[in-house]
Amino acid sequence: RVGEPRLPKYLKTTIPTGANYNRIKRDLRDLKLSTVCEEARCPNIGECWGGDGKENATATIMIMGDTCTRGCRFCAVKTSRTPAPLDPHEPENTAEAISRWGLGYIVLTSVDRDDLADGGSAHVAETISKIKLKAPHILVEALVPDFSGDKECVDRIAHAGLDVFAHNVETVERTTPFVRDRRAKYRQSLEVLRHAKASNPSLITKTSIMLGCGEMDEEVLQTLKDLRQNDVDVVTFGQYMRPTKRHMKVHEYVSPEKFKHWQQTAEELGFLYVASGPLVRSSYKAGEFFIKNVLE
Ligand code: SF4
Ligand code: SF4
Repeated sequence: RVGEPRLPKYLKTTIPTGANYNRIKRDLRDLKLSTVCEEARCPNIGECWGGDGKENATATIMIMGDTCTRGCRFCAVKTSRTPAPLDPHEPENTAEAISRWGLGYIVLTSVDRDDLADGGSAHVAETISKIKLKAPHILVEALVPDFSGDKECVDRIAHAGLDVFAHNVETVERTTPFVRDRRAKYRQSLEVLRHAKASNPSLITKTSIMLGCGEMDEEVLQTLKDLRQNDVDVVTFGQYMRPTKRHMKVHEYVSPEKFKHWQQTAEELGFLYVASGPLVRSSYKAGEFFIKNVLE
C-alpha cells in the first residue's frame, strides 16, 4: 500500500458476538432495514449492539434505503442518481423493531435523497414520531443530510420529537471539497446546525469530524470555533479509515495523544460533550455518553 501509512494495532477490533447482537441482526434482515454499523463496516459493532438490554445499548439504523444520491470519497455506501422509491411502511416497521430491542438510545441516519422534493425529511420525521409513540423512553438521535440547506426540511426534523439533532461537517473547510460530495458545503452544514438549534432550542445539536484526511491543526481549531459560534453542543472526533481501495487514502493515523488534545481543546471551548479517540464514530456508545453526561 504505497503512500499510505500502516494500520496501527489499536485500530484492530474483534468479531462481534452476543445475544443482543444476533437478535438485532435477525430482525434487521426480516424487516429489510440497513444499519450504518454494518454498511460502513463500523469497528465498534460488537460493543455498541452487545449492550444486551442495558439502557445504553445503541444501534444506528439507516432509513430511506441503502443507496445514496451523493458520493462522498470516504463513504462505503452505494451511490445512484435514482435510488429505489421510499418504502411507505418503513417508519412503522422501524419503530416496531426498535421498540422490541431493549435499546436505550437509537441513532437514526439516512442516505441523502437529493432525488426527492423534500430530501426525505417527512419520511425521517414520521419515523422519529412513530418511535416516540411506541417507545417514549428511547432517546432518539437523528443524523440527517444537509437537505441542500432547505430550512423547511430542517424545521420538519427539529420539531418531530427527537432529542439530538446531528449533522456531520466531517472535515475542516479547506478539505471539504476533496472529502465530501461536491454538493456538500462546509458553511451550509454549519447553517443547518445553527438553524436546527434556533428552530427548537431544546434540542442538543451534534457533529462529527474525521481526522487523518489531510487537515492541519489550526484548521481543526478553527472548525471547533466555527461550531461553537453556531451553537453546536456536542462534537466527536474519530480516525478516518479507508473502506476499500477505491476510496480516499488515509493521510495520517492520528495518535491517541492527539485525540486527547482535541478532546481537551474542545472541552475548553465550551462544548457540552466531547468524544475523541481513534475508534470513535459519530454514534459510538452514544447512549452511554448521553445518558450519563448530557440528558440526566
Ligand atoms: Fe455516504 Fe456522503 Fe451519502 Fe452520507 S451523503 S451516505 S457520507 S455518500
Ligand atoms: Fe453502529 Fe455507531 Fe456503534 Fe458503529 S459506533 S457500531 S455505526 S452505533
